[in-house]
Amino acid sequence: MTVHSAIPRSASSGQTGPAPGGVAGGALIAIEGVSHSYRSARGQESAALGDISLTIGHGEFVCLLGPSGCGKTTLLNMIAGFLRPGRGHVRVAGAQVLGPSPTRGVVFQDYSLFSWLTALGNVEFGLRMAGMGRATRHARAVEGLHAVGLEAVRDRYPFELSGGMKQRVAIARALATDPQVLLADEPFAALDAMTRTQLQAQLLDIQQRLGTTVVFVTHNIAEAVFLGSRIIVMSPHPGRVVEDIVVDLPRPRRRTAPEFNALYERLARAIGLDGVE
Ligand code: ADP
Ligand code: MG
Repeated sequence: MTVHSAIPRSASSGQTGPAPGGVAGGALIAIEGVSHSYRSARGQESAALGDISLTIGHGEFVCLLGPSGCGKTTLLNMIAGFLRPGRGHVRVAGAQVLGPSPTRGVVFQDYSLFSWLTALGNVEFGLRMAGMGRATRHARAVEGLHAVGLEAVRDRYPFELSGGMKQRVAIARALATDPQVLLADEPFAALDAMTRTQLQAQLLDIQQRLGTTVVFVTHNIAEAVFLGSRIIVMSPHPGRVVEDIVVDLPRPRRRTAPEFNALYERLARAIGLDGVE
């Protein structure tokens, strides 16, 4: 697989990520006093999220990092509008999130492509839902596939694509509606290490070109350090924020750089994996 475009040179000059909450342009996403409990079939309540409050600014690449079960998916689903908080509110661009919207693109771990549609058909699908006319949505979908380097396989069905290709189609589909925010839930977790590294670089390239705000869930520390302009560390039972770190390492980030490793160690300690990974 070839990665369509390299990380832009301009990104290698050592920028600092926006401050938490994004001073420039104000908060895009505001999570205000959010708690959530799930009720089991037997009626037992278990607290999935504690009292979470945080804001995310325009253009931030926020990684939600934490061990399995700490509530990352629960929080992301609330921003996406798939789940309403038991307590508190989520606002995007000032409006309370009450349900899903094409202004919030979502990418899941399992690709979630429609098996009966081609790559192009999958990307066009969201545009059709958004009411876009045939010619415009075709042009937009072709453009979207081009951005992820998949124009050559646009007429293939999901079963004819590798895992990495499927996830690139899913990214193109999520971005085709030009969303205010891209929400990704462990999107690369099922991919082999080499493909994962390539897709990380490619997503970062797209994010930097488009200036998209990204909330990216991962339990992989190196992935968070490579991608994030900010890393929010969560701990479980119930899920809460234990660290909120602005990452000002220059890009492209080298996984062997001492600063990379120092942050890795700090995060490993924060999530209690010190000496394990
Ligand atoms: P993560 O994505 O960090 O692994 P989740 O948000 O999926 O965490 O889950 C947080 C907690 O809530 C876990 O203890 C999980 O078992 C529980 N949980 C998640 N979804 C449900 C559900 N639909 N019903 C009951 N419990 C759930
Ligand atoms: Mg999860």
